[in-house]
Amino acid sequence: MVMEVLIKCANFAAIKHKDQRRKDTDKTPYINHPIGVAYILTEEGGIADPEVIQAALLHDTVEDTECTLDEIKEHFGDHVAGIVDEVSDDKTLPKMERKRLQIEHASSCSPQAKLVKLADKLYNLRDLNCCTPEGWSEERVTEYFEWAAKVVKGLRGTNKTLENELDKLFRKRNIRF
Ligand code: NDP
Ligand code: ZN
Repeated sequence: MVMEVLIKCANFAAIKHKDQRRKDTDKTPYINHPIGVAYILTEEGGIADPEVIQAALLHDTVEDTECTLDEIKEHFGDHVAGIVDEVSDDKTLPKMERKRLQIEHASSCSPQAKLVKLADKLYNLRDLNCCTPEGWSEERVTEYFEWAAKVVKGLRGTNKTLENELDKLFRKRNIRF
């Protein structure tokens, strides 16, 4: 049943992220982010595909916790694990290389992974817009927006509402998109 599997994903992500905090000055619990990404997809994006919402809830478990893709496969199946894999950076690579690869790979992602990526970027840019993380200069925030705009370029043609919301943020900061 769809509701049960979604609650299972939220619970799984909450356990995996339990000791993590976001980078905002309030140090918001990390789980607010994947739940917020899933909410952007249902509420603003009009997305009802359960696999996309599952992947959104799980999207940072492999990249940011000790969770493995095999674990995701075991609990949520190959397809959801495949989407999570598509949206996870390879943490064995240097950071700048990971950021470059996100730009390079965006356009070849599946439509389901593109949706998760669009909502993830929208959530993070809104976060940065309302609160600069401790230790971040204005220049670093601007660089993040510029990088995000390059990733989003490869994700376009997927969801008009989410893309328009992202464009509003880019426009506000005079970022070329
Ligand atoms: P980071 O990767 O360090 O941080 C951004 C990531 O942190 C997001 O993608 C998000 O990932 C997560 N995150 C957690 N909390 C927040 C929050 N409150 N708001 C937004 N994101 C949050 O950033 P970068 O290394 O990309 O730094 C941005 C730019 O600054 C880069 O382009 C780089 O060139 C430059 N830079 C500058 C430095 C400097 O000191 N001047 C040092 C390093 C980079 P998730 O969705 O996975 O949670
Ligand atoms: Zn994320």
